[in-house]
Amino acid sequence: MSPLDNIAKLSHLTRRDVQKNWLISTAAGKPIQPVTLNEKQYIIWAAGRQIQYLTQKIIVPEHLAGYPLEGMELRLILTWWAEDVKIYVNNQFIQAGDLFDSSTRILLSNSVSTGQEIIVTLRLVSPNHDIGGLMKSELIYEYSDAIYPGFVADELTIIHNYLQTFYPENLAAFTATLENIDWDNVTNKDKFNQSLESIRQSLQPLAKPLKERSFHLLGHAHLDMAWLWPLAETWQVAKNTFISVLNLQKDFPALIFGHSSPLLYEWIEKHHPDLFQAILEAYKGQSWELLGGMWVEPEVNLISGESLFRQLLYGQQYFQEKFGQITKTAWLPDTFGFPYQLPQILKSFGIKYFVTGKLHWNDTTKFPHGFFWWQSPDGSKILSLMSPPNVAGVMDTNPIIMTDHALNWEQQTGLKEIFWLPGVGDHGGGPTRDMLEVAQRWQKSPFFPQLKFSQAKTYLDSLETSNLPIWDDELYLEFHRGCYTTHTDQKAYNRYCEILLYQGELWSSLANILLEIPYPKFEIESAWKKVLLNQFHDILPGTSIPEVFRYANQLWQQVISTGEAILDQALQAIANQINLPNPPHPQAKPFLVFNSLNWERTQVISLAVESANCSVYDLNNCLCPSQLSHDNQLLFLANNIPSVGYKLFWLVTNQQTTEKNLINCQFTLDNGLLKVTINSETGDIDSIFDIINQKEILQAAGNQLQAFKDQGQYWDAWNIDPNYQQYPLPKTVLKSIECLEYGPLRWQIRVIRSLGDSEFCQDYILEKDSPILQIKTIVNWQQEHTLVKTAFPLTLNSDFTTYEIACGAIERYHEPESPKWEVYAHKWADLTDTEANYGVSLLNNNKYGYDATNQQLRLTLLRSPRWPDPEADLGKQEFTYAIYPHQGNWKTAKTVHHAWQLNSPVTIIFINNSSQSNWLPPVAQWLKFSADNLILMSFKQSETASRGWVMRVYECQGENAVIDWQNQLQLTIKESIDGLERAIDPVEQLSPWQIATWLLKN
Ligand SMILES: [Zn+2]
Repeated sequence: MSPLDNIAKLSHLTRRDVQKNWLISTAAGKPIQPVTLNEKQYIIWAAGRQIQYLTQKIIVPEHLAGYPLEGMELRLILTWWAEDVKIYVNNQFIQAGDLFDSSTRILLSNSVSTGQEIIVTLRLVSPNHDIGGLMKSELIYEYSDAIYPGFVADELTIIHNYLQTFYPENLAAFTATLENIDWDNVTNKDKFNQSLESIRQSLQPLAKPLKERSFHLLGHAHLDMAWLWPLAETWQVAKNTFISVLNLQKDFPALIFGHSSPLLYEWIEKHHPDLFQAILEAYKGQSWELLGGMWVEPEVNLISGESLFRQLLYGQQYFQEKFGQITKTAWLPDTFGFPYQLPQILKSFGIKYFVTGKLHWNDTTKFPHGFFWWQSPDGSKILSLMSPPNVAGVMDTNPIIMTDHALNWEQQTGLKEIFWLPGVGDHGGGPTRDMLEVAQRWQKSPFFPQLKFSQAKTYLDSLETSNLPIWDDELYLEFHRGCYTTHTDQKAYNRYCEILLYQGELWSSLANILLEIPYPKFEIESAWKKVLLNQFHDILPGTSIPEVFRYANQLWQQVISTGEAILDQALQAIANQINLPNPPHPQAKPFLVFNSLNWERTQVISLAVESANCSVYDLNNCLCPSQLSHDNQLLFLANNIPSVGYKLFWLVTNQQTTEKNLINCQFTLDNGLLKVTINSETGDIDSIFDIINQKEILQAAGNQLQAFKDQGQYWDAWNIDPNYQQYPLPKTVLKSIECLEYGPLRWQIRVIRSLGDSEFCQDYILEKDSPILQIKTIVNWQQEHTLVKTAFPLTLNSDFTTYEIACGAIERYHEPESPKWEVYAHKWADLTDTEANYGVSLLNNNKYGYDATNQQLRLTLLRSPRWPDPEADLGKQEFTYAIYPHQGNWKTAKTVHHAWQLNSPVTIIFINNSSQSNWLPPVAQWLKFSADNLILMSFKQSETASRGWVMRVYECQGENAVIDWQNQLQLTIKESIDGLERAIDPVEQLSPWQIATWLLKN
């Protein structure tokens, strides 16, 4: 007999598959009919919270294949896919489960006797979105304190697998030893077990190398702050999980538990101080580890660089304050991909290690490394660990699964130290008593690697780091590509709030420095923390139930009202201190145009006015070019608004009437830089002609709204159907086209198109002196399982596209069959034809999903999944995207700056009162860098107010930058600081893609 046959035969002596024995029953457990198994041997039933009752009577036989069972423990192993599970044994409720707590090893008897009858009844509720399933039902007879055939079979499997993988020369000896199993005496338990024992003895020399290996166990429960349940439930889940862990630690003192998310600790601290105290004690006693360092475990692809800083700032600050120490281990096990600049940002917060397991979910490529240096484009490197795969939400201590992983791990990394995270996750639980008992048992087996509980940090510190591979790229998750687009409202709120809080902090700082207006530190921090919570990896990606979004939207609204009030207060305070020059007219109303960006800009500005009889004058009392818009706003051209500054203008009424220019436009827009022709039959763009460079950029119709059926992915909200291109839907139908404006400041054509039951209203807009075609969009979106993209086929050719990411940009190549067929970007993507020295940027104000080929750029506008939120994305959606044709590449064309401008419009503030004592000048540039590749990302009060002001910039073009800055605020650089605002070596020049933070003093 082959060794594997011997092992299987042994295993069947104490193990029995009872999956086919279930009977469909009534709620009372009365049998109706036998079940039918599908080809995978699963019992399945309909989706839609359908209840399935199953029952079976277990009669303990005298023996299995001859082996006597009397006196053994009996356990039932079950694995299900059901959102609610109740297990009854002899009509007594014993245990509950759900989609995450999805398996059990339930104890049916401590000591069975022949003929003993046990009735098990299950009540299983299918998920609303998916069929229900019972995948596995197995009876196991075992001893907890002695060997038995099933246990020995597992030991033999493990040693066999190790020998086969690493010591094949010893396989023959192993096979020969197994021939000594005393099958003739299988009915005599004592004799048979003795033969097993002597086989174990003879195999021990072969098993010695197993003990050179060690499992490091860290108890864990990945808790989703909100997902298929609301946040309010997560608080309770966290509380129960933490209590359960602390209780288990009384019986299993070796158990170490690790958890992330300062927000959860903060809630426990507030609402259950005793529990918090107990956690603190466990932390001091080294049996509790703080992980993560971010405020929550956020989505990190889509959030801005400053949001990443704030996740870490408030997270680490909380740990430092409450536990006396920051964490060294970044922990994002479940986040959907990781941006290129993350190592640099993590390092700025004292983080040494980065841990995730998510790349195990890749649909195409196996991520090649287990332990590696992950490097940012500036050269910062962080030690990174792929934690063991956990696709089911539960990681137990099954010895075969553990050693299978260990073998793969060692083959991949050469490392004999193995990390393992036992515990029930997602909806809480953590490690169970049974997991710990099983682990204890295997700890004693000579045929299993060593096993001990360790902190993640201890484990990581123990690993050999010489000759590690370097991953110098983003960590792209080849899955969940729909999350760049799903729940477009969350994306729009996020972008708006990130920029609003930047502006609010900047101008509150300036109002304090200039005018001693109190700095609203508490309000800003609490608004930031709401944003950080909503960036959680199932909220911002759009993958939760409706209730979660109702609450998230309340938080966004609170951030918007706080943020807008803070900004308005600061700007108004500044405006009211302006020393006004002589007005051009006695009734002229002064107002300021504020620019929050750190470069000068010129822009057409739209003012709400009461009548057409008004005009705008500039500081020198010169009339500004103006135009009345189609909706009766006064447009004027504001020239040279200073960097982080403002400029005064005057609104004068009762003057000459400003005209609307209603010449028939022939569906062409022409501002002297671009000539854009709209097709009057389709509403697409026929031509975008760059007049200066005499170049047509469109190869075929531009702004085609391409719709596709996008259905059939189990992870509906998460995944775009990889074959979506094969299912195009009918083209849009033009309902109307009209010229709204035709210069001299703005040219605008409105196109209304229908797509199924949905309507797209799009305004094509050109402004004076701007080489950018804006497409302002309002959609009434009513489609189901539909993906819509806007396509721009270009007369260019490039084998890569550049995309903006947090604090930088990344080039992604257009390789055939590349899994990166849908990627994310922040505010822009750019396809530049190097040979032609010409490119096109596609900007957006709140979208993130893109794709590109050598000759085409597309932006993903909308999706409409139906699970977990059946109404995701339905209704009114507003967004703007823009096409920017340019000579040279995105760097020379200043795409970064144009995209910031699209996202951070100027702010208009009318001056309400003014006095002689005012001293602020009517035009001011408070802050400017001589290097234009530096982007100001944060200007705020330092966390310790008395220390001064914090200024953070990033280098945006992959080039060096000298630090030469002018400020009118009497500030000087005190020192360079890290993310936690601790002094570091002075940064005197920025290298490509570097992020730098300084403490400023006045
Ligand atoms: Zn998660």
